Amino acid sequence: MSEARNLRKTTYRLYPTPKQVFALDALLRSHQQLYNAALEERISAWSKAGKSISYADQCKSLTLLRRELPEWRDAANCSSQQMTLRRLDKAFTAFFRRVKAGQTPGFPRFKSLGRFSGFSVKSHGDGWRFTPTDGWKHGSLRLSGVGQIRARGQARQGGEIRASDILHRDGRWYLSLTVAVASPERTRQADGALAYDWGVERFLSGVTHTGELENIDNPRWWQQEMEQTIRLQQAVSRKPNRRSNRRKKAVRRLAAARAKVARKRLDWVHQQTAALAGKYALVATEELTLKNMTRSASGTAEEPGKQVAQKAGLNREILDTAPGLFTSLFRYKVLETGGEWVDAPTRKLKPSQRCPRCWHVAKKQLSQRMHCCEQCGHQENRDTASARVVLCWALESISGQELAETGIHSPRETPPFATHRVE
Ligand SMILES: [Zn+2]
Repeated sequence: MSEARNLRKTTYRLYPTPKQVFALDALLRSHQQLYNAALEERISAWSKAGKSISYADQCKSLTLLRRELPEWRDAANCSSQQMTLRRLDKAFTAFFRRVKAGQTPGFPRFKSLGRFSGFSVKSHGDGWRFTPTDGWKHGSLRLSGVGQIRARGQARQGGEIRASDILHRDGRWYLSLTVAVASPERTRQADGALAYDWGVERFLSGVTHTGELENIDNPRWWQQEMEQTIRLQQAVSRKPNRRSNRRKKAVRRLAAARAKVARKRLDWVHQQTAALAGKYALVATEELTLKNMTRSASGTAEEPGKQVAQKAGLNREILDTAPGLFTSLFRYKVLETGGEWVDAPTRKLKPSQRCPRCWHVAKKQLSQRMHCCEQCGHQENRDTASARVVLCWALESISGQELAETGIHSPRETPPFATHRVE
């Protein structure tokens, strides 16, 4: 597994004291000046002598500068200055690559302090040190020449600290911390196979290779959040004057509530997918299409009540976008831990119309929540039946060799049902 896959970036907001802000500003200015001076050097070498200057050349010049001029030496840490030169080098590489590709990119330009986004710090311990607190959630950054700065963030996981960035945006300071997280164990307990489908009543209906059900209900707070958001939306629409302060306040409240729901939903999806990825080495679901990325709002429209339109809109916002998010995070986690992911071809397989026991295909109405096979009499929850079809197909379509690599132990001895082929 490549190391890059295990590098995680987390942003911490920095809370410097007024004195530290002064020192940070001076540091930023010194990097900006270095960047512009290096750009100037490249341009004049090219225009005067037709000579191109490399990153290595500029590092040598920097060493000389630092030896001759104390203000360069005192301005910033050497490896940090080298990383600013590297940044310029990357801008040039990207510029030439795009020229070569026949595009007309903008030439790397001189940067004003306002447009200069920040600088990098290299080896941890060399001029900087981040000390995490609260299990990596927050911490403090010790920066040479500036001091100890309070940092607040939302990291989920710690690790070995690597080269990171200090960013300045809209008058605020941030630390974009890069950590190398331990690569997840391949020899995990995950040895099962799972296929799943979505529903309106139940968030996820899954079937495992031993035929057991793995279901996830809609969290109760979704309904509560939805009702609260409807109230806030009504509060906005009761204030038609777009310029009134009361309306602005209501709009702000609504936006804050929406952002909170989005955060909560992301947390929930992370938790659920992490738990499942730890259990299953092979996961199959219908391929993601625009249609099945959202769950049909018709589930609520079938029982029309008050505020149908508003509810349908919010349903989309709060519930229906969750499957797409869920599947992309789930897929990422399964593949990251060396598992196998199978996308079933919806149009060819027709999982929601097919009987998982006898493979007979019959159209269902959306309102029909049970699968009742007219041929073999098999009865089951509609979404579970559909997941079972996907699982049978996935176990059939993946070769024995590939299956062995996922660590699933002879699934064909205990298939969810007799195996079938798609004709
Ligand atoms: Zn049947």
